Amino acid sequence: MIVKIAEKAGFCFGVKRAVDIALDYTDSHDSLLSYGQLIHNDQVTDRLSKKGLKEVDSLEAVYNQDVLIRSHGVGKKIYDLGIDHELNLIDCTCPFVKKVHKIVDKHYREGYEIIIVGNAKHPEIQGINGWCNNKGIIISSIDDIKPLKEGKYCVVSQTTLQYSVWEKVKIALSNESSEILFFNTICSATSERQEAVKILATEVDCMIVIGGYHSSNTRKLYEICMSLCNETIHVEKKSDLMMTNLKKYGIIGITAGASTPDWIIKEIYDYLLSL
Ligand code: SF4
Repeated sequence: MIVKIAEKAGFCFGVKRAVDIALDYTDSHDSLLSYGQLIHNDQVTDRLSKKGLKEVDSLEAVYNQDVLIRSHGVGKKIYDLGIDHELNLIDCTCPFVKKVHKIVDKHYREGYEIIIVGNAKHPEIQGINGWCNNKGIIISSIDDIKPLKEGKYCVVSQTTLQYSVWEKVKIALSNESSEILFFNTICSATSERQEAVKILATEVDCMIVIGGYHSSNTRKLYEICMSLCNETIHVEKKSDLMMTNLKKYGIIGITAGASTPDWIIKEIYDYLLSL
């Protein structure tokens, strides 16, 4: 059996950085709070919770503690609360997300209305909105666009937005206002991972997609693989593969979502080779 791993499989730069910081910190400290779930991967969060990482959904009642801010980032109010509550914020906001915060903060203070293109329920979007006093207009596609009042506008995107959606929104909004600035803040990590898997899925007999069952980027990878290779399997960990007869395949491809650590990919790779 030949086993091939797709390029760009697994952790993106921002998630890897956040997990590495959390692992390092919990090595040398007894406890650490994470504001929200660090990443959508139970194996990683279980490992970190055994090392003393505890998840909290609110910091209102937290004082004088070390608190990790995950890669999705948070709004300005959390930083203000950190000062008021004397928290030691370990800021793992991905630098690409940080850049969006800076754009929004600057333009909001200069009197621009902020438009954010993305999923309103996603923590990254909620964090970005927190840099314009939660007054951003959030749209997920051209269908959400309503006529704009007179004024100046600044448009940013969720880092994982599909480029085709951004292009359509940009054209539609340009017709709505003459004073409108566009900042394409899409990060290439997601699209690069998807492009890499499109090549691999056509070269193999079976594709294994590793990642959390609730991870939207993993599900998207699964859909892409499925459209190119009928024999596609989505698993979270090695034990999920035990009941599957994999010996019948000559070439197996592996990819993994952005929240899947290297050690899980390696475990599955080694298992396949052992067959
Ligand atoms: S997808 Fe891009 S922006 Fe988001 S955490 Fe990863 S590297 Fe950062």
